[in-house]
Amino acid sequence: MAPVPTSNSKLPAEVQAIEKFFYLTPERLNEIVKGFRTEFEDGLQNFGRDTAMIPSYCLNVPNGSEVGTFLALDLGGTNLRVCEVTLEGKNNFNVQQRKYKITDELKQGEARALFDYIADSVDSFLTDIGTEMDENEKIHLGFTFSFPVEQTALNKGKLLTWTKGFACKNAIGHDVVKLLQDALDRKHVHVRCSALVNDTVGTLLSRSYQSGPALIGAIFGTGTNGAYIDRVETITKLGETAITESKKGGKDAGEYMVVNTEWGAIDNQRKVLPVSMFDNKLDRESINPRKQAFEKMVSGMYLGEIVRNILLYLVDNLLLFSGYSSPILNTHYGFDTAFVSAIEAAKSAQEVKSAIFRELNIPENNISEQDVELVQWACQAVSTRAAALSACAVAAVVLHTKALDRSDPIDVGMDGSVAEFLPFFEERVRAALRDTIGQDAEQRVTFGLAKDGSGVGAALCALQAYKAEKQGLH
Ligand code: BGC
Ligand code: MG
Repeated sequence: MAPVPTSNSKLPAEVQAIEKFFYLTPERLNEIVKGFRTEFEDGLQNFGRDTAMIPSYCLNVPNGSEVGTFLALDLGGTNLRVCEVTLEGKNNFNVQQRKYKITDELKQGEARALFDYIADSVDSFLTDIGTEMDENEKIHLGFTFSFPVEQTALNKGKLLTWTKGFACKNAIGHDVVKLLQDALDRKHVHVRCSALVNDTVGTLLSRSYQSGPALIGAIFGTGTNGAYIDRVETITKLGETAITESKKGGKDAGEYMVVNTEWGAIDNQRKVLPVSMFDNKLDRESINPRKQAFEKMVSGMYLGEIVRNILLYLVDNLLLFSGYSSPILNTHYGFDTAFVSAIEAAKSAQEVKSAIFRELNIPENNISEQDVELVQWACQAVSTRAAALSACAVAAVVLHTKALDRSDPIDVGMDGSVAEFLPFFEERVRAALRDTIGQDAEQRVTFGLAKDGSGVGAALCALQAYKAEKQGLH
């Protein structure tokens, strides 16, 4: 497949009619960037917006010399990871980790059950790796919690809403650190949760620790979101006192703060996003209708489902598989983004057919050459749009921060399954960046995978909390 495809005029008219929602012109992309910037600015001025622009209370970006051993918890979209992170200094770290499965029952049951499970996992992890407990000093833990939380301190914040298939009861509006600490205390686990971090903030910190100061930390995985560094004076909703304080002591005293944008919720009003009938159907049938509009076009939890909706439409119009579907193709979330990746990576029509058989269970001798082309077209359309929209979010941050007026590097640390496994993702992001911020600017932007961002970022925040405590700042 071509990394940066354009629309294909040989396709049936019904298909061409859909293309305008997926292949976006530079004008359209620029309109989207403009809309995104307006939402960013609104979120910086006002609390309670969907694009929450959350102050992280993380003031220090690491320089790679930090040392110490901390526990990190990572509750993301798919797994729970417990890690022991050793920051070794010299941009190096070491992670020991175990993964624990979060069942759908836990994702949608009582919050208390979820947090009890997390506390039990921490307990068995400590036993497993044989960490020695000091009775007098609790082990510090950084908690990467990849959901929107309105933070009021590095170790305090209320859950605003669930995303990505989570819907636990009695959690929204509660302090997430307290929910965790209470569970740890109930189970007599000698651990203290001292920092709460969004995964994007963790990614930004981890990338900076490993390879110098980054401007943005972005997750393109099960969900999507970005964090970036802003001047405290720009976060006007923090109020005048906070801003005056921030100016007192230069960079280290907090003139800058990491802001968690929660860009997954951009344009929930659907004013600028290219919303097609397939997106509407996905949203209507989701557990959080009218929320996470941007995320539902970009992130790994949904790309397979958009493709599924398109394929069904083509089947219903007798354009695909001679009008026959399959039980998997008929099943809500019947296949995921791995199918899209497999189709995009296929090097021959035969490989496409094999993937369709393997993942959708359509017999190979029922798959025509036209079917191969249409399935490839659908996957390509959906993933090209996801990358272009991702670029719009990055472009909006670059323009908002006026990074192009300065000479420092414009580095984006990324993590997540889409960034890592979806073929051509970065090439397509770059193509759309050229259409928005221009070719010279695009050349100045560097992208790098910041693997383990969540673990290392949480450890770095725990270190920040630990230092503040030693200095009596808490
Ligand atoms: C959450 C964000 C998170 C992102 C990536 C979104 O659904 O709202 O807080 O950073 O997923 O994990
Ligand atoms: Mg994650």
